[in-house]
Amino acid sequence: MSEEKFDCIIVGAGPAGSTAAYELARQGLEVLLVEKGDKPGSKNMMGGRLYCYSLHRIIPNFWEEAPVERRVEKEELSFLTEHGAMTISLDNEVLGEAPSHSYVVLRADFDAWLAGKAEEAGAMIATGIRVDDLLWAGGKVCGIKAGEDEILSDVVIAADGVNSLLAQRAGLRGELRPEHVSVGAKSVIALPEKTIEDRFCLRGNEGAARLFVGAGTKGAPGGGFLYTNKESVSFGLVFNLGALIKAGVSVAEAVEDFKFHPAIRPLLEGGEVVEYSAHLVPEAGLAMKPRLFTGGMLVAGDAAGFVINTGFMVRGMDLAVTSGALAAKAVIAAKEKGDFSADTLKIYEDFLRQSHVYSDLEAYKNVPELLEEPDMYTTLPALVVDILTDLFKVKGNPPERVQKMVMRHIRQKTSFWKLAKIGWKGARSI
Ligand SMILES: Cc1cc2nc3c(=O)[nH]c(=O)nc-3n(C[C@H](O)[C@H](O)[C@H](O)COP(=O)(O)OP(=O)(O)OC[C@H]3O[C@@H](n4cnc5c(N)ncnc54)[C@H](O)[C@@H]3O)c2cc1C
Repeated sequence: MSEEKFDCIIVGAGPAGSTAAYELARQGLEVLLVEKGDKPGSKNMMGGRLYCYSLHRIIPNFWEEAPVERRVEKEELSFLTEHGAMTISLDNEVLGEAPSHSYVVLRADFDAWLAGKAEEAGAMIATGIRVDDLLWAGGKVCGIKAGEDEILSDVVIAADGVNSLLAQRAGLRGELRPEHVSVGAKSVIALPEKTIEDRFCLRGNEGAARLFVGAGTKGAPGGGFLYTNKESVSFGLVFNLGALIKAGVSVAEAVEDFKFHPAIRPLLEGGEVVEYSAHLVPEAGLAMKPRLFTGGMLVAGDAAGFVINTGFMVRGMDLAVTSGALAAKAVIAAKEKGDFSADTLKIYEDFLRQSHVYSDLEAYKNVPELLEEPDMYTTLPALVVDILTDLFKVKGNPPERVQKMVMRHIRQKTSFWKLAKIGWKGARSI
């Protein structure tokens, strides 16, 4: 056992862990940030967009120094059938206004920068070390075990991501349930800067965020994403794991097929895949939240299930940053009292309840139920694409009245009752 004892050990140098380390080190606490990857960010992936407001509260105007790619000023949501697409597109300079804007980021660069800020503030970073277990004394967590090494601390913050081994070891949560997580597969595809600007109608540093519902996931719950970096695009699919197992779809094959969809192919043509990765996303929101504290330990970020997927936006980074900062605030309060028992550390949950993390998760808590609806991925895209196709197509025959045409498509593909049910679920969710 090492002689050294830290005020706090943080496991995981993703946005939750590095933010917690930065906040604690700034307050002069002795902090150790342990990361299993060779570098912070080397094991991490996401679709690509960081909503800036939460980190801006901690590091004002951080985007001026952080390695960010493009500022999102164009939002697009497409409903796909096998051969067609209906796209809602929003261009608005207001989307780019600080601090409520968002940037596309590449995690290997971004996470390394954020961990570097924690190190500059005084945190010690140990990379290439996988934490295997917790140490206990008097019924409280009192450190970590990594291989043969045992390191002591007053408190441990588990920021070890969606699979959180430490939350399991502490008995705060059980095994992940397949229906509570999605699996995401992503390719980074290199393209010249000018090609990206021409294909996505962007100027300078402007960026686009595109989400896709329908044919990409072959009818399974999930969706596609495409974000523009400076000289590459981040492109991939996310599938609900429970549905994926039932449907027996291969994620890698689905991503390959998706690249050849008529709405996608022209965007990626001539590009070269320079990176491929896959990762789980917690998607059940408050329904999968573990217990967040025990004596000597707190859980933050994806390890706590703090992700919101509404179908038109995915947010995990901003919640990870806020929960990491609030975990640090709880540790500081416990240090001032000199008491790291569960009774003191439960203040973390109060901080979360007063923050946007709980109110945002609460606001979208019914969305997972809507996103489970199979018709969202088959019937609805087919309905919108086919109705609009008939609306725009001139066949040289006497035209069908629009109302009759719409009714015909609804009767052919579904029923009013089913549509009303989805509409009701949609209205309840958002
Ligand atoms: C396909 C996909 C698309 C997404 N798109 C978006 C998006 O566009 N916008 C958005 O905001 N969010 C998005 N997310 C969610 C976002 O990536 C997460 O919410 C965010 O990364 C959570 O941060 P974190 O710090 O909690 O966990 P992570 O980023 O997962 O970091 C956990 C860290 O812990 C380390 N670790 C794990 N176990 C150990 C151990 N035992 N010992 C030492 N180190 C360990 C890992 O290596 C990792 O560095 C997406 C996720 C996926 C998978």
